Formats: sequence, C-alpha cells, structure tokens
Amino acid sequence: MKNNFKDIFHHEYESHYLSPARINLIGEHIDYNGGKVLPAAISLNIEAWVRKNDEHVFRFYSSNMPKIYIHELDNIKYDKENDWTNYPLGMIHTLRNNGYIIDQGLDIFYSSTIPTASGLSSSASLLDLTACILNNEFNLGLSREEIALYAKESENKFNGLACGIMDQAAISLGKKNHAVLIDTSKFDFNNQEYEYHNINLNDYTFVVMSTNKPRKLVESKYNERVDECNLALKLINDYYHLNYHNLCEIELNKLDEIKSFLPSLLYKRVKHVLTENKRVYDFIDSLKNNDIINLGKILNESDLSLKNDYEVTGLHLDTLTQASRLQPSCIGSRMTGAGFGGCAIALIKKDQFEDFKNKVIDIYQNKTNIVPSIYEVDIVDGVRKL
Ligand code: ADP
Ligand code: MG
Repeated sequence: MKNNFKDIFHHEYESHYLSPARINLIGEHIDYNGGKVLPAAISLNIEAWVRKNDEHVFRFYSSNMPKIYIHELDNIKYDKENDWTNYPLGMIHTLRNNGYIIDQGLDIFYSSTIPTASGLSSSASLLDLTACILNNEFNLGLSREEIALYAKESENKFNGLACGIMDQAAISLGKKNHAVLIDTSKFDFNNQEYEYHNINLNDYTFVVMSTNKPRKLVESKYNERVDECNLALKLINDYYHLNYHNLCEIELNKLDEIKSFLPSLLYKRVKHVLTENKRVYDFIDSLKNNDIINLGKILNESDLSLKNDYEVTGLHLDTLTQASRLQPSCIGSRMTGAGFGGCAIALIKKDQFEDFKNKVIDIYQNKTNIVPSIYEVDIVDGVRKL
C-alpha cells in the first residue's frame, strides 16, 4: 500500500506494520453461550508506518479519515472529540495502566483496506495493530495472547464496548492457511485454550461480501439475544433441577423435550445454539477429512439457522447469501459476525470468481439499490511488523 508519511509528518518513517481483518467460519452467536468459534485472519488489512519522535506526544493520521490528531502522552483520556483515535489512545492507556513503560511519543500513519463498521473487525485490527507497534517500539515483551487480551480490555473499558475475545484473538493469533478454534470461555490471562486447523480448500476459495448497508441497532439486538439465551438457560435449569453453566453444555438430543416446555421463541434460540455448537465440531471433522463439499453444506445450514431460528440476518444479508447460492460455482454461504447487516462469506470455485462476483452484484443491486463489495480473500498471518 502507498503512504505519504513524509508529507504528513515531515520525516521518513522508521518501521512498518500490518494487521488483518477477520471472518468467523463457523460458531456464530455461541461465544456467549460457552461454545467454540472458528475465525480466521484474512487478506484485507490495516497497515501502519511509524517513527519515534523526541517529544511526549502521539500524532495519528489515517488516510481513511484525513486529519492529524495530536495527543499529549501524559494526558490521555477518552473524549468523543478524539474520534477514531480513541482506539489507539485506549491501547496506550491500557498498557500503561498495566505497568508497561511507554515514555516517548510516536508518529503513526494508518491506511486500511478493511471496510469499517461492517463486521470484519476493523476496530479490533486497529487495536491489535497499535498494541503490536507499542510492543515493538518500546520492547514491552508482550505475547500474541497478551496483545489480544489487552486489546479486548481496551475496547471494553476505554471504548465501552462489551465485546468478547474472538476478534482480538483471531487477529493476533492468525496463521496463514489456518483457522483458530478458540474456546472463548477459557481465554484469559491465566489460561488460553485454542488450536489451529489447516484450511486446505483445493480449487475453492472464500469470498467476503459486504452488504454496504450501515448497520443499525446491532448492539441492542445483540444484547436482546444474550438476554434470551440467559432466560432460556434459567428455564431449562428450573425444569430439570440441574445447573448447566451455559447452553452449549446441554445435549443436543434434549431439544425435543425442551420444545415441549420452552416458549417457542426461546426454543428457536436454543435450537440455533445447540445445532451451531454441533456444526463447529462437524466443520472441524470435514476439514480434517478434506471434505470441502460438506464445509459448504455446513455453512448453508448455519445460515438457515441464523435466519430462521436466531433471526439475525435481514433482507440485505439474505439477498446476498441467496444470490450466492444461486451460482453453480458456490457450494455454501452464510452471514458472518453479529449480523443485522454487515458481511457474509461464500465458498466458491476459485476460477469462477469474476463471474460469481458480477452475477451476485447484479442480483443484489436490483433488489436493494446498493452496490455490494465482494472480495476474494486468502487466510493470512496475524498482526506483525514487516
Ligand atoms: P468493525 O469493527 O466491525 O469494523 P466497529 O464499529 O467496531 O466496526 O469499528 C469501526 C471503527 O473503528 C471506525 O468507526 C473507526 O473509529 C475505527 N477504525 C477502523 N479502521 C480504521 C482506520 N483505518 N482508520 C481510522 N479509524 C478506523
Ligand atoms: Mg468492531
């Protein structure tokens, strides 16, 4: 990517960093129900060019929102006026708060190909990237796991978003041609449970499709689902006089009985969670057996469950996934991330990408009057210094 660091900061840059976006392959909306998720880092990214300055100020510039922001190192606090720089500022604040020594300023030029606010985790990428920069420039000795954990702490406490660990961990732990199976309920400073799974797609590839529709109500709808799951868990525990800690602990073969006593809306939510949890294990088996066709089938099943039972898709995502599935080159497709707009993924024949893209754009644009963005992506390494 190009940068005009020198035009902005009147010096040459000294170092160069890169941080990817992420998609979640399978395991949607089960991270807060004790399930495992399978994200992967992808080849859309934020790059940063950096120089240590001799002052106690941080200067930030993003080619995506051109304006220089200048902040005193010893006067860092959250402020609406800081706009997007609340993310890098939060990272500096969080690390210093945890005893890491950052005693000099940096000039940082960011530039990104990740569509923002569309569910590919540009915010986590920006945080991990900033943590990686601080780690290298000030020799903080942070591990990849710690980068993810401090980035999450920063997004939770400084930016006030109650997100889980998936995004920050996927971007920090990313590995070329591998997805990371993360047990999000067992990932903290004492203990991190995750494993890599090789993604070998033969002549298939993943495609990322952005609805390009601004997300609305994501947070409140997300919280509504969390509340519904908590209520369902309580009613199930009351019925059985048991003490399940989360929905994913419940055996799938209990679903029929659960249907008989749960209100139908809550039953649908539980059905998604239990079947999605099983799909994660089936997906891993299919990866091990190199059964690409079955991976596509599981993506489709997941999408239908998210549409009909969990009800987090909507017209724009449904139009994209349905248009994808109409293409003979596509063997599976589903929404990815929180839903309610945002992005979907599809698994398609690699050599049919252009045709797939043109046809899906046509169908989607005809129905919604919006042009979607469609990218062929590789699975890549996590955040790093170049
Ligand atoms: P998502 O993480 O799904 O992309 P969020 O709303 O969580 O959506 O994060 C988007 C925000 O992250 C942007 O509004 C902006 O504040 C910040 N951001 C992400 N990428 C950049 C960038 N390249 N330059 C400046 N700010 C960015
Ligand atoms: Mg985000």
